[in-house]
Amino acid sequence: MTYTLTLQHIKPVTHDTYQLTFDRPADFDFEAGQATHFALDQEGWRDEDRPFTMTSLPDQKDKLEFVIKSYPSHDGVTEKVPNLKAGDQVIADNTAGAITDHGPGVFIAGGAGITPFIAILRSHAKMGEMDCHLIFANETDKDIILQEEFDQMAGLKTSYLVSGQSDTAHISGKPDKDMLSKLIADFDQTFYVCGPGDMVDAVRSSLKDLGAAEDKIITEDGW
Ligand SMILES: Cc1cc2nc3c(=O)[nH]c(=O)nc-3n(C[C@H](O)[C@H](O)[C@H](O)COP(=O)(O)OP(=O)(O)OC[C@H]3O[C@@H](n4cnc5c(N)ncnc54)[C@H](O)[C@@H]3O)c2cc1C
Repeated sequence: MTYTLTLQHIKPVTHDTYQLTFDRPADFDFEAGQATHFALDQEGWRDEDRPFTMTSLPDQKDKLEFVIKSYPSHDGVTEKVPNLKAGDQVIADNTAGAITDHGPGVFIAGGAGITPFIAILRSHAKMGEMDCHLIFANETDKDIILQEEFDQMAGLKTSYLVSGQSDTAHISGKPDKDMLSKLIADFDQTFYVCGPGDMVDAVRSSLKDLGAAEDKIITEDGW
């Protein structure tokens, strides 16, 4: 099943990341945290589909939102994203994804790996059932996606880690075992991990060493 999505508007959320809002087809169903693949409906790009995560809520029937980081060096789909404009179309396929809502827990994200957690945390905020901790790792302060929104979510504890800027306003460092042991008091809870593959592997291994149960670590392979 494919869907043609029409862009309503696009706006920057950081220096290299954009929020795209599309019309939502009536039968486009998904769970918070899940992704689709889409290709640009442009000559030469229709076979180049890439995975992107819906960041709007499943019960928001009037729109589909994505938050997409652009990589100009890839010469690929995300390089074209900043130039999209209202009325442009993408071709999306079915939704899927291993990261879905398993209740409150610790959310550990690297860069654009935050995207599955946007809808899940928005959903918790809406239900008033937060009691979550977000550990969000980035290179520099200006790479932090939607910081203001996370800061305003009642009941969400935030720890922003920055590894490539000596004068950071946040916590200096990466989500390694030592850092996780300092930031997390209780390892008997649900952990959500998303980001580059090597980061996910390292965090999963650290969490297990620190006492987290394998079946309570929710991840997506292939980022
Ligand atoms: C389930 C899932 C959900 C995702 N959701 C989101 C999301 O919501 N938002 C988001 O921003 N991202 C998301 N991603 C990541 C996103 O899919 C990738 O960033 C995207 O596919 C990159 O596409 P691209 O065409 O720009 O580059 P690619 O397809 O990665 O590469 C295009 C070309 O660039 C070259 N290239 C690749 N890497 C490099 C490099 N490091 N340096 C130089 N050249 C390179 C390669 O030769 C390749 O042919 C998700 C990933 C997964 C698996």
